[in-house]
Amino acid sequence: MLPEYRVGNGYDLHRLGADHPLRIGGVDIAPDGGAIGHSDADVAMHALVDALLGATGGGDIGRRYPDTDPANRDVDSSRFVAETMADLRKAGWDLVNADLTIVLERPKVSPFADAMRQQLAAALGTDAKRISLKAKTNEGVDAVGAGEAVACHAVVLVVRGPTQAPA
Ligand code: MG
Repeated sequence: MLPEYRVGNGYDLHRLGADHPLRIGGVDIAPDGGAIGHSDADVAMHALVDALLGATGGGDIGRRYPDTDPANRDVDSSRFVAETMADLRKAGWDLVNADLTIVLERPKVSPFADAMRQQLAAALGTDAKRISLKAKTNEGVDAVGAGEAVACHAVVLVVRGPTQAPA
């Protein structure tokens, strides 16, 4: 029997301007002007959850963690990633790698990228070498370019079967 591989794609966007720090990938990168949302509004954690659910046919984050549920208010979104990954492992899946792209006009993400990779890897229960995180601006275009929103794209590869995820 060959190992089964699945790819998953996730995307998230949040408006900016909340009266709390801007948290991306588990790292607070600005003291205020945070993302507006029911939880901590961490676009990277949210996009990652959707990618994991997408890879395994698990629906989406809105269905799994509804913003109408008071239990999800102001929570640390790394919990969503950890719980989702735990469910995948129960079903026999392991993460091969994850690749994320943050789209944010300011501040610059690159000084925080390694810390974000560590936080994302910790939430996933994996090594940071399996996590890639890139960042770009939206070149001043649209709401993200105007500094009104932050977005994140995530892709994951998961595997289950007779072999472990390749090193
Ligand atoms: Mg979200």
